[in-house]
Amino acid sequence: MRNIAKLNKTYGEQNFFFVKFKSYVLWNVRALLLWLAMVNITSSNLMNDPLEHATGIERREVLAKATGNDNPFDIKVFKRGAGTKENPNLIPSAFDARIVGCICEEDQTYVQWMWLQKSTLKRSECGHWFTLVEKAAV
Ligand SMILES: [Zn+2]
Repeated sequence: MRNIAKLNKTYGEQNFFFVKFKSYVLWNVRALLLWLAMVNITSSNLMNDPLEHATGIERREVLAKATGNDNPFDIKVFKRGAGTKENPNLIPSAFDARIVGCICEEDQTYVQWMWLQKSTLKRSECGHWFTLVEKAAV
């Protein structure tokens, strides 16, 4: 009885048991909401398919990736081939020109950027040749 009186004094006019009960309920509600959020995230039938929301070029990208093409715009880095004038590196593009970066030396700290025009050959500073090849748009 003395302890309750002391606790009531600590917590002011509020009843100590009411304060503890309110805290208990709040923490359990928080835990329940967290659990519901985790269930919502992990169960796939509650999350929308990204394809339902994607439009335009993003939709075409998602569709291309769904068919197994993980690089539909050919933006991944690839290793140069021989790159001679007779056998140049082929750069795919759906347009008449494309910017291409060449890392001429292995330990180079910058990329040598250049414009490639359709049906022309271009030589990088390192001596490798590049040309644009036509590719269907995604
Ligand atoms: Zn180069």
